Amino acid sequence: MLRVGLGFDIHRLVKGRKLVLGGVHIPFSQGLWGNSDADVILHAVSDSLLGALGKGDIGDYFKDNVFKRKKTKLTSQRIVKEVLRLLKKEKANIVNIDAVIILDKPRLLRYKRKLTKSLSRILDTEEKKVNLKIKSQEGIWQSNPANIMCLATVLIDVRNADL
Ligand SMILES: [Zn+2]
Repeated sequence: MLRVGLGFDIHRLVKGRKLVLGGVHIPFSQGLWGNSDADVILHAVSDSLLGALGKGDIGDYFKDNVFKRKKTKLTSQRIVKEVLRLLKKEKANIVNIDAVIILDKPRLLRYKRKLTKSLSRILDTEEKKVNLKIKSQEGIWQSNPANIMCLATVLIDVRNADL
């Protein structure tokens, strides 16, 4: 059975934070504000996968999460890892992921390949199954401070017929 999922996330750019997108550190004067590394791509992708599984979103799923109890830092890559564990449990595979990152700064085009590679590594899936688009906000949604947003869709193939 095929199931589709949609994810969206947005974080503000602020000074004094490291910018991490899709698990890649991007050299820039600002980073995204939020929990742990605030990796907007990994959050949107995790939400799309949880959506495809019918399990709400990151907020729902990690509300009283095991990581808090264990006092383990809930990094974005750990969230993805946990979501992948759920996929495995439901005998589901990623068919493909399509994501759009929407930002005015920094310029990301030259990192596109690196980001795609990193995403496929983190998601433990082939690079050809991961498609990433980089779009400008054209100043339209730009607030002060600026933000970076990401939309992601995923198609999964589920072998658990009860899902
Ligand atoms: Zn987020």
